[in-house]
Amino acid sequence: MSELFKGEFSRRQILTTAGLGAISAAALGSMNEEVAAQQPTGQATPHGGSLPPQIKFAPISEKTEVDTGGPPTALPPERRLGFAIVGLGRLALEEIMPAFAECKLAKPTALVSGDAAKANQVAQQYGIKPQNVYNYQNYDNLRNNSDVDVIYIVLPNSMHREYTVRGAKAGKHILCEKPMATTVEDCQQMIDACKQSDRKLMIAYRCQYEPHHRAMIQMIRSKELGTLKVIQADNGQNQGGDLNQWRLKRALAGGGSLPDVGIYCLNATRYLTGEEPIAISAQTFSTPGDPRFKEVEESVTFQLRFPSGVLGICSTSYGFHEGRRFRVFGSDAWGQLDPAFSYNGLRMMISRKSPTNSMAENISEVRIGEKNQFALEMDHIADCVIQNKQPHTPGEEGLQDQKLITLIYEAAQTGKTISLPRVSSGLDATRGPAPRMLH
Ligand code: NAD
Repeated sequence: MSELFKGEFSRRQILTTAGLGAISAAALGSMNEEVAAQQPTGQATPHGGSLPPQIKFAPISEKTEVDTGGPPTALPPERRLGFAIVGLGRLALEEIMPAFAECKLAKPTALVSGDAAKANQVAQQYGIKPQNVYNYQNYDNLRNNSDVDVIYIVLPNSMHREYTVRGAKAGKHILCEKPMATTVEDCQQMIDACKQSDRKLMIAYRCQYEPHHRAMIQMIRSKELGTLKVIQADNGQNQGGDLNQWRLKRALAGGGSLPDVGIYCLNATRYLTGEEPIAISAQTFSTPGDPRFKEVEESVTFQLRFPSGVLGICSTSYGFHEGRRFRVFGSDAWGQLDPAFSYNGLRMMISRKSPTNSMAENISEVRIGEKNQFALEMDHIADCVIQNKQPHTPGEEGLQDQKLITLIYEAAQTGKTISLPRVSSGLDATRGPAPRMLH
């Protein structure tokens, strides 16, 4: 296992490997000890305390059985980092607020909304003090609120820049939803504002914290699938209903399916390989006369070439029925996640020649325990604040996707393949250290 990924998985997370060598037994065997060594037991935090030691139980099954990993440790609520959630739309209320129940280091302490009645109702539901409910005008007063350490921005895409800059100026760390913004210039301003205020900036690329994705990265990087050749990724949904929704307005969304859901495919090709593309070609199509696509595109396909020779083939659409998957093709095996980009229910399959029957192909499922992706990402930025570390998906990661999105549109418009200079700084050039598993 590469140094980068040591300690990421407990055996509890990998429930069953029906496959043959999908994740090597040696790797599985060593994971638990590595995780134990990395448990943040006894570390001092700026909140004046240390995490309680993990409670241990004597083993009740043989080494052949999947380990439970033991009970998680968590900071006591009064010492966790306080989060202000900005924008109480679907993602905030359906996913993020409930996810705090799974957090070990983070807790909700403030809300920012244009709808006071809704915000007060949500505040009551989650035990948030009434005086910690803000609106978009008095948002900057968060500066005076010591209950809040991190601001999580869950607004329409074009609003991310303003609320990141104002939040950083208010002295708070920022977790911002993807896509980071709608222009490269806005992304850069967000990075600059957080640097000037000496605050962390993390883009909420939840998949990069999710155990199936981390396992796939680990398999690719350790060459368990042989030499990686091609990545095929698709993410789309049939977007409809309210024609006035911000996702169909260019000024608010920055584009159509590409920045909203296609970004998952783009980002996956980058974190699976650790590389940055050196060539891009693309096509877009919107059904003529479809009122949904007056301002934003319906479908995009794009192809990427990476310095190692890996090719990425991606599709995204607001017109096809929900599909959220990728398959990585290596010289010795293929691996897939289908679904890959959903909030839950992820499934990993590996296909390789049977080691015991030369006439047989083994297609097997690797079952990994499910984790709440939003809790993982919120705890990651809390951990980075506590440890004073760079987030794994900092502003530079979002900026790079935004640059590439701009080039994908350009490639589609011109019909030309765009060449890019090689990034010289090795793998994961836009990422901070790999996240440690706190769950
Ligand atoms: P939503 O429309 O459900 O919520 C947006 C919120 O912003 C609403 O509360 C709305 O009232 C508020 N708002 C403030 N000013 C607004 C304006 N001028 N126009 C429209 N709304 C305004 O959207 P959502 O699905 O919650 O998405 C919010 C952000 O989260 C987006 O950046 C989106 O890309 C991102 N997102 C990420 C994921 C993920 O899996 N990480 C999933 C969904 C959405």
